[in-house]
Amino acid sequence: MAANEPGQPDPTATLITHDLPVPASALAIGAHPDDVEFGCGATLAKWAAAGCVVHHLVLTDGSKGTWNADADIPALIASRQGEQREAARRLSGANAGEVVFLGQVDGELQASLALRGEVARVIRQLRPQIVLGHDPWKRYRLHPDHREAGLLACDGIVAARDPHFFKEHGLPSHRPALLLLWEADEPDHVEDVTGFVETKLHALEAHESQFESTMKAVDPDELAAFRDRISSRLAGLGAHYGVRNAEVFKRIADL
Ligand SMILES: [Zn+2]
Repeated sequence: MAANEPGQPDPTATLITHDLPVPASALAIGAHPDDVEFGCGATLAKWAAAGCVVHHLVLTDGSKGTWNADADIPALIASRQGEQREAARRLSGANAGEVVFLGQVDGELQASLALRGEVARVIRQLRPQIVLGHDPWKRYRLHPDHREAGLLACDGIVAARDPHFFKEHGLPSHRPALLLLWEADEPDHVEDVTGFVETKLHALEAHESQFESTMKAVDPDELAAFRDRISSRLAGLGAHYGVRNAEVFKRIADL
């Protein structure tokens, strides 16, 4: 039978799924403080409001996150950790889980075997039902940390799920049910985040040290423009997928 015979499904078409059942727990793995809020903040806020415990794992120390060449770097690292904890509270409220920092040097993240083990250890300790991370296969991506962080999320799951990997952890293995990748090169999963855009924005605004370099929002007009850019993006994705506001992901279910 010809693949494109009228009335037959196109076997190359991507099947789009919508709105997972709310998981009991989720772990979002970002390269830098703020990446999780940009990538999946509204989805996490929606799940947390429905009872999901939301954990954060931030791989780098965020020490390149300033345009001030004379910045006090240890102070920047400390304030970015504080901002990340506040963002997690704003996203998830009483259901905010752990916020773990692996403290790798910003800009120099590598998906090494040692770091894969550290990510697997966190997955085994926190035992999330769903893991979220950067899509490492996003085409034309420039920032190496985002690519490496995506690889570490994928590789960390493989190591965490099988008992003979990193036995020295002394922890039981853990296989999450699902991996969602944000900034997806080929999105195939949609979360309706209508009602949670403001929570995402509020959490993003916890990252005050990033107002100049990342958000280009050093005065009220620029901050309003930043909010508009984020809101418009979620509304545009929503319009494309038939809801008011959406975050979209690549969904990997066979873990
Ligand atoms: Zn980042």
